[in-house]
Amino acid sequence: MKITIHRGTNQIGGCITEIESNGYKVFIDFGEQLPGTEAVELGAINGLTCGDISKSALFITHYHADHIGKISDALPDLPIYVGKTALKIFNCLETRLSYIPDPNEAARHKRIVERIKTINTFEALQRIEIGGITVTPLFVDHSAYDAYMFIVEADNKRILHTGDFRGHGFRSKGLIPTLKAYAKNIDFIISEGSNIQRPNATIQTEQELQKDFELHFREHKYSFVLVSSTNIDRIFALYHASKNAKRCFVCDSYQTNILKIVSESHKQYTKFYDIDFNQKTSPAGRFFELKRKGQNPFSFVGKLKSYLEKHGFCMLIRSNDSFQPLITEYAKSNDSKVFYSMWNGYLDRNKSAFNESLFNFVKPYEIEYMHTSGHADLETLKSVFETVKPNGGIIPIHTEAPEKFKELFHEQINIILLQDGDEFDVK
Ligand SMILES: [Zn+2]
Ligand SMILES: [Zn+2]
Repeated sequence: MKITIHRGTNQIGGCITEIESNGYKVFIDFGEQLPGTEAVELGAINGLTCGDISKSALFITHYHADHIGKISDALPDLPIYVGKTALKIFNCLETRLSYIPDPNEAARHKRIVERIKTINTFEALQRIEIGGITVTPLFVDHSAYDAYMFIVEADNKRILHTGDFRGHGFRSKGLIPTLKAYAKNIDFIISEGSNIQRPNATIQTEQELQKDFELHFREHKYSFVLVSSTNIDRIFALYHASKNAKRCFVCDSYQTNILKIVSESHKQYTKFYDIDFNQKTSPAGRFFELKRKGQNPFSFVGKLKSYLEKHGFCMLIRSNDSFQPLITEYAKSNDSKVFYSMWNGYLDRNKSAFNESLFNFVKPYEIEYMHTSGHADLETLKSVFETVKPNGGIIPIHTEAPEKFKELFHEQINIILLQDGDEFDVK
């Protein structure tokens, strides 16, 4: 068995991992580089973008663009596997993006939408065989919904590929028990390390963040929250926070469709995803789908306006012109607040991921930063490594500081630092 990290040994995002055995190849993730990352040109990759694909397959850990964004560059007949609900959400997102004004970007998203039609789905613990290689997905908590780690087995060797994950989300309780049950006798862990440079960061849990939101919603009658439309658990936390604060919950049709996908497929497992979209009796958590009239910006009119103003609301927004007039209208009121619930690096001019249009969008308002990371903190990484105790060692990826793994863990575990494209022989 051989492991090659084609990209992602020294950066967050853009990951491509290859695990090869007897000519069969399993690729994990085919992501774009995050904006602002120094471009790493990809050569053609045999079995993925060129050559014979009859013995290979691509598995996607989750729908963030730095893991799935390049799927339309994979050869057309290459089988691709994604989580079932993740694929539906990703399809909604990409369909919307295929109508954005920038023609080149819109065309790129259209190609992704076409490719989505050919993708296969899997469920947690379903074993999938690609020649002599077996892949088993393990469900994990991340800021993307329906995200997975993979166990890849071949030649009597077992690899755990973590993808992106964390220990402080609503569904993180299962992390260590899942690993104890299924990640036994692992030889190597290919691990993400996004937060490895922040050894002392105490990360707020999603539960704590939800409580804070609830307090704010009680205090401010009109709340607007700028949040990623696919950060599902955050959005459901906002829904529960506004319900507890007895406020209405408002979002546009695109966002409503995404929430319906999750609610319909998962409300039988937990009340957390159970939104009553037709509830009419009480303002607490009452759901309003705001429809746009043609190209006009969003607005509250008539009875809806007076109802929302009477009871107060939490509205989900995105950084585009169709939301701006509504926020501006309410921003004048002392009862209004705009929350920014995404990574603050996008608003930091000193960071390479600085996003000028997002910065300009929030500039007129006094924003409140309310966010917690989608990635594992140091304690979580440590407990994962101690639980799994890989026989061979750990290969860091999805990190800007792979050498930190050595500094922090070398006494307990062998750390293998690879460069992009290195071929690592699993013995
Ligand atoms: Zn990522
Ligand atoms: Zn991610």
